Amino acid sequence: MKPIDHLVTNLIGNSALSRQDFLQLTSRGLAIGALGSTLASCEKRPESANTAQSTAGTPGGPIPKLPATSPPADIPADSAKPIELEQIKAKTEQQEGPTPTPMAEDKRIGYALVGLGHLTLNQILPAFGLCTKSKVVALVSGSPEKMQKVATQYGIKKESCYSYADYDKLRDNKEVQAIYIVLPNGMHAEYTIRGAQAGKHILCEKPMANTAQECQAMIDACKKADRKLMIAYRIQYEPHNKMVREMVQKQQFGKVKNIIANNGQNSDNPKHWRFNKALAGGGALPDVGLYCLNTIRFVLGEEPSEVMAYVHSTPGDPRFKEVEEQVNWLMKFPSGVQASCATSYGHHDEKSYKVMADTGWIKMDPAFPYTGLQLETSRAEGTENQIIQHKIADKDHFTAEMDHFSECLLKNKVPFTPGEEGLQDQKIIEAIYQSAREGKPVKLPAVSKKDAFRGPEPTA
Ligand code: NAD
Repeated sequence: MKPIDHLVTNLIGNSALSRQDFLQLTSRGLAIGALGSTLASCEKRPESANTAQSTAGTPGGPIPKLPATSPPADIPADSAKPIELEQIKAKTEQQEGPTPTPMAEDKRIGYALVGLGHLTLNQILPAFGLCTKSKVVALVSGSPEKMQKVATQYGIKKESCYSYADYDKLRDNKEVQAIYIVLPNGMHAEYTIRGAQAGKHILCEKPMANTAQECQAMIDACKKADRKLMIAYRIQYEPHNKMVREMVQKQQFGKVKNIIANNGQNSDNPKHWRFNKALAGGGALPDVGLYCLNTIRFVLGEEPSEVMAYVHSTPGDPRFKEVEEQVNWLMKFPSGVQASCATSYGHHDEKSYKVMADTGWIKMDPAFPYTGLQLETSRAEGTENQIIQHKIADKDHFTAEMDHFSECLLKNKVPFTPGEEGLQDQKIIEAIYQSAREGKPVKLPAVSKKDAFRGPEPTA
């Protein structure tokens, strides 16, 4: 018998197909499906326990009917509540999170993305694939060819692609409820204000704008138009940094005394807008240094009362004709915490922070990239020093942040990181530059309320 004949004999086995039927179906590419349904109908045929026993495990024999052995899943009627699957891991093992609760496409918040650069193409657009409450429905770009390609890739309608000149026409697109602004920093204020005036809610990338005055104008315009405004501080929606905040606020290592933070990278291309003062607002500080500032404020839940700073740029480096290369600054907090931060566009990647408290330390290294964050803690236990690596499942930062904003729109809630949060960072950035210019500490207005500039804590 040739190997193919042997295979055919095994495949048709006890099924109702004749050898001739099988060969005819194969030539039409249908045999395997037909064989599958034949086998399925074999399952439904009543058979004696003896037959089941004698043919179980025989190739081509009927599939034995086995009793269900897992407890049934708990299926709540409310589609926003997760289905609870039966437990398959011991309680002492790391558990999975709740099952996703996606909303149907037509119920999700529709976003227009403005600016198709690195962040939009590499992070934000792919992140929509994991969203449960958000979808991308429109694009705004200065490059029609690029926009056409992206629209084809993500299934966006031709009539929902706009040039910058046509931006205000978003007003007439009923599928768009929110605009996500991913433009150079110096354009955030204008596009936020025009977007709100077009009746859309605004999610704006960090830094909020170039000046505190622009930030205030953005807040005022959104209030006037009765639209929500959120600044895209992805770190505040990300599980590792959220856990650090919880450890600090529950004083799991006692009182925090000292924090060191660094966010630096070696940036290239002096012609890029990041080296243009009008478009960037500043150099490393508002771009990457902002992560140190914003994350420390988030983790502590309090506001600095004083800053002291130094700025330096390598003389003659063509990148730093208009914006600074490096800033080092200290922040004093009313609780007594002192934070020492550094940022640079001129050294190799370093994105970390460490919180030193009475009875232990908490380290995030790396702390700010899009993936691969690592959280480690240390405390003494008798003669031992216990260092624990906390393995937390990654969650896409942009998915988490966009779905939070969508949740706020669906339930009419204030975003956790509203415009006021971005304005506060900008005021501190301005105090840091002032301190470096004047060579002395700069005091900031006292803020006694905890989480003074944030909305209610996200529920998921
Ligand atoms: P990018 O240069 O890659 O993209 C900017 C886009 O704006 C490009 O498509 C460009 O064509 C367009 N643009 C429109 N008008 C322009 C002009 N006059 N000059 C230059 N470009 C113009 O920048 P990016 O890295 O995508 O950053 C965009 C925004 O996102 C910035 O505000 C940045 O701070 C922020 N960002 C945030 C994160 C984060 O992790 N949250 C990361 C990177 C960037």
